[in-house]
Amino acid sequence: MHIGILSRNSRLYSTRRLIEAAEARGHTARVVDTLRCYMNIASHRPSIHYKGAEIEHFDAVVPRIGASVTFYGCAVLRQFEMMGTYVVNDSVAISRSRDKLRSLQLLSRKGLGLPVTGFAHSPDDIPDLITMVKGAPLVIKLLEGTQGIGVVLAETNQAAESVIQAFMGMKANIMVQEYIKEARGADIRCLVVGDKVVASMKRQAADGEFRSNLHRGGTASEIRITPEERSTAIRAAKAMGLSVAGVDLLRANHGPVIMEVNSSPGLQGIETATGKDIAGLIIDHIAKSAAPAKKIPPKP
Ligand code: ADP
Repeated sequence: MHIGILSRNSRLYSTRRLIEAAEARGHTARVVDTLRCYMNIASHRPSIHYKGAEIEHFDAVVPRIGASVTFYGCAVLRQFEMMGTYVVNDSVAISRSRDKLRSLQLLSRKGLGLPVTGFAHSPDDIPDLITMVKGAPLVIKLLEGTQGIGVVLAETNQAAESVIQAFMGMKANIMVQEYIKEARGADIRCLVVGDKVVASMKRQAADGEFRSNLHRGGTASEIRITPEERSTAIRAAKAMGLSVAGVDLLRANHGPVIMEVNSSPGLQGIETATGKDIAGLIIDHIAKSAAPAKKIPPKP
C-alpha cells in the first residue's frame, strides 16, 4: 500500500512512528503537509494539488490534524473522501470530536458514563446552572481549550460564580462539570484501534494539581483497565465514529466517566509508557480495513 500521512510536521514523534511502522511492513508512506494541499472543488473529477502538481494516489490516508487546523484539515480530508480514498478517521468524526459539548451530547445519548455537566449562555442563569450540577467543588472548562489549559477547579459556589462570570464576560463558551474528586488527579487514556483497546495508561497529575495532562506535568504509566472501562472506551469511540481514538476516562465512584475522545491521539506518551508498537497496530488496522476496496472487480 501507499499511505499518506496528513500532518503539519514530519519530525513529530507520531508522524515519524507511523512512517517507520508502514515501511517496516513493506508499505510506502509519505507525509503530506495538510496546509499545503489545495483543491479545485468544482471540477467533475475531484483532485488535490500539492506544491505545484496533482497529488499521487494513496490507498489510505492517516489524518493527524491538530486542533488549530481543524477547519482546513477537515476540508482537505473530505476531498480525499470525495476521491474515494480510505481514511482512518473521517472528516465528520474529527469535527465532531473537536466540539466538547457536542461530543458529550452524543456520548450521553448512547448511555455512556459522564460527569454531570451543564452549559449556559446567559450570566442570569449562572446560579441555577451551579445548582443544576450540584454545587461546588466544580470544574469549569473552556470549550476551545486543549492540554488542560482553560480547565479550572472552583472550590466554592462563590468562586465558581466569579469564574463563570469572567469567562462569559470574555464571550468564551464554557461548560460546568461535577468535580470527580475520587479520581485523585488521575485519568486513564485508552487507545482504541478498530474495535479494541490496544493500550491504556494512567496519567497522574503533579502534586497540588488536579489536571493529569502530560503538558501540565503529569506522569504516565501502564495500567490494567477493568472490563467496564474497556467496553466504555470502545463504545465511546464507536459513538463518535472514530476507528482510532484516545478515550480519556476518570474512575468515579459509580464507574468510569468519559472526559473526552481525542481523534488524533499522540503516540509518544502511550508507546513510552506501555512499550507497545501502537503505530504498527494502526498500520495493521489500515491494511485490514483499506484492502477490501481493491478487491472489487472492475466493471465489465
Ligand atoms: P483538555 O481537553 O484540555 O485536556 P480535559 O477536560 O481533559 O481538558 O481536562 C484536563 C484534565 O483535568 C483531565 O485529564 C482531568 O485530569 C482533569 N479533570 C477535568 N475534568 C475533571 C472533572 N470533572 N473532575 C476531575 N478532574 C477533572
